[in-house]
Amino acid sequence: MALNDVLERIQAEEARIGREVGSTRLIAVSKLQPLDRIKAALDAGHRLFGENRVQEAAGKWPALRERYPDLKLHLIGPLQTNKVRQAIKLFDAIESLDRPKLAHTLARLQGEFGTCPALYVQVNTGEEPQKAGVMPMDADGFIAECRRLDLPVVGLMCIPPFDEEPSLHFALLAKIAARNGLSELSMGMSGDFERAIAQGATSVRVGSAVFGGRVQSFSDNP
Ligand SMILES: *Cc1c(COP(=O)(O)O)cnc(C)c1O
Repeated sequence: MALNDVLERIQAEEARIGREVGSTRLIAVSKLQPLDRIKAALDAGHRLFGENRVQEAAGKWPALRERYPDLKLHLIGPLQTNKVRQAIKLFDAIESLDRPKLAHTLARLQGEFGTCPALYVQVNTGEEPQKAGVMPMDADGFIAECRRLDLPVVGLMCIPPFDEEPSLHFALLAKIAARNGLSELSMGMSGDFERAIAQGATSVRVGSAVFGGRVQSFSDNP
């Protein structure tokens, strides 16, 4: 498993740009990965993971949590409002807060449960029609609305367009976070996490570079 290589590359980039070494969190993205690879990462001491589907996470993580109670799990994929109740129970953070209806549902359930996972607003920095996230020009207003609802928004998340230089998108996300007083930036994947760190990422979401290629299909792993 390449977990240690990725951790070393993160530290090398932190050192290169003069940031405190070890200050960037690695979210090991375990979607569609076989369980033995996930267990190997846990046995190596890694505790922070990301999943992009509620159903898939529900199938594997509750049992793993019993064995590793200190692990943390982030939802990094789209969240339908009818799955919010389940997501609140499964995840320590939800990184895909992207619309008012979802914000209002989270606020209602926060009232009911008395707690809510840490939240990241997802910004569609490339303004791609098929992609989730609030448009950059709507971000300030949406963050303000989430704050009025008393939601625990801690930062921003983005997935840049495939075919563009990601650094520009990372810089835009950092700018929106700074002007809104948000300290957490979830950005950077296997192909670009060093560039994300250079632009201020506080966590990077790395899947295939940690675990290897995704081998299972979701339907094999209900
Ligand atoms: C799958 C996924 C990742 C990780 O992608 P890799 O290229 O395998 O590192 C990161 N973020 C999100 C939102 C993802 O869905």
